[in-house]
Amino acid sequence: MKRIAILGSTGSIGTQTLQVIEKHPERLQVTALAAHSNYEKVAEQARKFHPKYLAMFESSAADCLAKETNRKVASGMGGLIEIATSDEVDVVVVAVSGMIGLEPTLAAIRAKKAIALASKEVLVAGGAIVVPLAREHKVPILPIDSEHSAILQCLVGALGVPFPTADDTSFYERLKERLSQIEKIILTASGGPFRGYTLKQLENVTVEQALAHPTWRMGGKITIDSATLMNKGLEIIEACWLYDCTPEKIEVVIHPQSVIHAIVKFLDGSALAQMGHPDMKVPIQFALLGPERLPSPAKNWNPLDTPELTFEEFDSSVFICPNLAREAFRRGGVVPTVLNAVNEEAANAFLRGEISFLDIQRFAEGSLSIAPNTSATLETILAADKEARAWFHARART
Ligand code: NDP
Ligand code: MG
Repeated sequence: MKRIAILGSTGSIGTQTLQVIEKHPERLQVTALAAHSNYEKVAEQARKFHPKYLAMFESSAADCLAKETNRKVASGMGGLIEIATSDEVDVVVVAVSGMIGLEPTLAAIRAKKAIALASKEVLVAGGAIVVPLAREHKVPILPIDSEHSAILQCLVGALGVPFPTADDTSFYERLKERLSQIEKIILTASGGPFRGYTLKQLENVTVEQALAHPTWRMGGKITIDSATLMNKGLEIIEACWLYDCTPEKIEVVIHPQSVIHAIVKFLDGSALAQMGHPDMKVPIQFALLGPERLPSPAKNWNPLDTPELTFEEFDSSVFICPNLAREAFRRGGVVPTVLNAVNEEAANAFLRGEISFLDIQRFAEGSLSIAPNTSATLETILAADKEARAWFHARART
């Protein structure tokens, strides 16, 4: 029985994680739930799944949840860390929106918990410290992001790379041995609601249009990232950290049907792809129960469901974010942290109607010129993150 803590249990990934757990009561058990402020939903989840521990980031929500459930409820960053490091937890699902998940992830790694990672911002902002720490503690980082899960599924299938497990470094060792046989890793992107738009057409797009994602149903911030293609930029960085690659090895191709989630191309001219309906319950289940293949709550994919699978390029002079992310990763240190922080603030400001859609990428581009050339430690990452957010707010006001 795997005992699971979910950070961000009320969100899109959090609720789908609970659906996967519900499907496998003999193997998976909810031990702890945490969210930001939606205490009513956590109370409802607690009544159904009987977790031992609860936390709310916001202290007033923690008080309300404590009253509602008649239980002790932890709060703040300390509360998230308490849950992520509990002796009774084996796997921590990190599914909060944004880089707020960094410190609980580091704490969970130190406590030797397996990490099932949805919050890509944790690796974007803090990969330089998260990945070495995970290797030092022999803790697996299991990707929930669909493209990265797809890459793992291809690697496990084709190169004999073992599924990452605790206390075993053979995943990294085998990956290192076999990496030279991979020519390219291709991340697919639906293209979002503005696929094929020109800069002129993007000038006046609305929040409502940006939230109307053609294939995936996700939380607000990642839906905006998908519309700007910053989501692919963040995913390039995430893939570099997870699979020990440089950005040159990673390509992005538009695939509007979102059935192929990633493609790994080998030197012999062959390629492997992982397919399925756009449904996060598949990668969530692979992270929690892989490499086993068991029935899941996701709908089965059949070729005739989507007889047409197409691919196209995107215009990188219009959608500049993937290349900004490549540059940030190449420069290293806290540059990706700054890009991530400014993007997070800008995407949320756009959602609140405070800036225009194209402002998001203008701010992201501007962030690269203010990023300091500092090497990455927890202290420099947190400081750079804070300064970058302050820079955004000062600039956005003028
Ligand atoms: P949602 O906006 O749907 O959910 C966010 C969750 O995080 C909520 O449970 C929210 O709680 C919680 N949360 C936010 N801030 C805090 C905090 N400070 N402390 C504790 N909990 C917090 O987001 P998604 O589920 O869509 O995305 C979550 C992460 O997964 C993101 O990093 C995203 O990039 C990644 N991801 C998501 C995919 C998807 O399909 N949704 C696909 C691939 C990756 P509350 O409800 O109380 O506000
Ligand atoms: Mg993804």
